[in-house]
Amino acid sequence: MNPEHPNGLHHVTAICGSAQRNLDFYAGLLGLRLVKRTINFDDPGTYHLYYGDGTGRPGTILTFFPWAHAARGRRGAGEVSVTAFSVPAASLGWWADRLAAAKVPATRGDGSFGDGATLRFADPDGMMLELVADDAAPAGEAWPGSPVPGVHALRGFQRVYATVAQGEGTSRLLTEVLGFSLHGEEGNVARFVAAASEGQAGRFIDLTIEPLDRPGSSGAGTVHHIAWRTPDDAMQVALRERLLGLGYQVSPVMERNYFRSIYFREPGGVLFEVATDGPGFADDEPQESLGQDLKLPPWLEGKRAQIEAALPALRMPS
Ligand code: ZN
Repeated sequence: MNPEHPNGLHHVTAICGSAQRNLDFYAGLLGLRLVKRTINFDDPGTYHLYYGDGTGRPGTILTFFPWAHAARGRRGAGEVSVTAFSVPAASLGWWADRLAAAKVPATRGDGSFGDGATLRFADPDGMMLELVADDAAPAGEAWPGSPVPGVHALRGFQRVYATVAQGEGTSRLLTEVLGFSLHGEEGNVARFVAAASEGQAGRFIDLTIEPLDRPGSSGAGTVHHIAWRTPDDAMQVALRERLLGLGYQVSPVMERNYFRSIYFREPGGVLFEVATDGPGFADDEPQESLGQDLKLPPWLEGKRAQIEAALPALRMPS
């Protein structure tokens, strides 16, 4: 095994409209913990909200850029079309009832690649989500403050579905550069599994090949990028060098405070990031109070008053 190979998903980042509506849905209904309340470092007038399990482990982190007036994105090729979380198999019925009570329409599916049954539904911005019955998923650290009992808690990502018009370039990147293995093929879907990811959340990417004639467009309800995890800075730099050598346009290493990141677009059009596991979300506030206060990176702390004044107030769901 090559140590530069990512070991699965680190986080998924999407775009939403109202920040409060997003918080009510992900923390209030789905029971994720808001593990970081910060701003988009590249657009300081916008929140960056991070949700995760009790400690925000890599593989459980879903983040949003809320743009109150964002138009809805359009589905198409070159995007992550569905983001799936694991839940215990015995909890799927409980989730069906919870979603129904909240008037969120959900469709039951049989699962693919030997997975358990699924529930598919959309968030308030139309982002497609799925819960997969998966007793093999690591239990992780449930958040005691969640409105969802720990036994039913989401256990991090099970997979993402990426839709691309042609699969060959993406397949080769995944297997020849990033160390994934082809796990199986069903119809027009190929599943890849990350290297050395046994027992971890976010092991799979399901590549759906659809000869769509139009690319997806970014907007509310769409995934902006997905991040793969790498254990440390040295591995990240080694992977960056490798990608550059293959002709990829790769960003410099970006300081994201809770991890460091590089970005590049894969051949099918999906924006990939590779993020370090550390230092993590308890780097600038105590574990017990993650997500309660607005945190700014040191270089923007001097503008706190202006930044706070421009952001909408947020109220934690009861
Ligand atoms: Zn990211």
